Amino acid sequence: MMDNPAIFKIQRYSIHDGPGIRTTVFFQGCPLSCRWCHNPESQRMPGKISSEEMDKLVAKLMEEIEKDMIFYDDSGGGVTFSGGEPLSQPKLLFRLLDQCQEKEIHTCLDTSGYADPEILFSISQITDLILYDIKLIDEAAYKTLTGKSVSPVLNNLKLLSNRKTNVSIRFPLIPEMTDTEENIADVISFLKENTDYRDIHILPFHKAGEGKYELLKMKNHMKDIAAPSPKRVAKVKEQFEFNGFNVTIGG
Ligand code: SF4
Repeated sequence: MMDNPAIFKIQRYSIHDGPGIRTTVFFQGCPLSCRWCHNPESQRMPGKISSEEMDKLVAKLMEEIEKDMIFYDDSGGGVTFSGGEPLSQPKLLFRLLDQCQEKEIHTCLDTSGYADPEILFSISQITDLILYDIKLIDEAAYKTLTGKSVSPVLNNLKLLSNRKTNVSIRFPLIPEMTDTEENIADVISFLKENTDYRDIHILPFHKAGEGKYELLKMKNHMKDIAAPSPKRVAKVKEQFEFNGFNVTIGG
């Protein structure tokens, strides 16, 4: 067993990570460090794996994924690659997507969009639906709250839209961080001016996963921040709808 494996969790019968009933495969490693991250244990990059180890891992994961084919077929579901950031392990991701395509399993990629544009584009060619996180538009705020620049994220989304890629937008609603009047107005303008995407899922912040920060001895920036009220969530939903978006609350 590797010290820091490439995959940190597999969740079967998932109903919040794309259409239908899905198996979600969580990749280890993320270039970002969002203050509200529910999976802080996924941020550390995994150790390198040999070609032989990768062959075994792909075979094992496909075996797991294929167990629930009947549920995927009945519900219009499939498999979702999430994380962490799956694009930080492009070879493994590519191999899995390729096998799923061969076996006609519907695939979703859940991504922050912080990735090399060429990698993202080639991966998008063999993915059925990309679940793309738009958190913040302002460069300084994105850098403070995630640790990286927002430019690749916004440029990559424009690129996907220009190439008519199937994308569903995810907007994490985080009080005091992404949930500000200015940021919401910026997200709406950015999407309308630069993309064709009008389907958006609002993902309200919740307190699950908080205990992990203590266990990992990591600073918990969300300690004193409460989940947004249902009234606030409804108001933000209305604001997006008023601007022509199709809104779903949750995954
Ligand atoms: S992109 Fe996702 S996994 Fe990575 S730090 Fe942010 S919330 Fe966590």
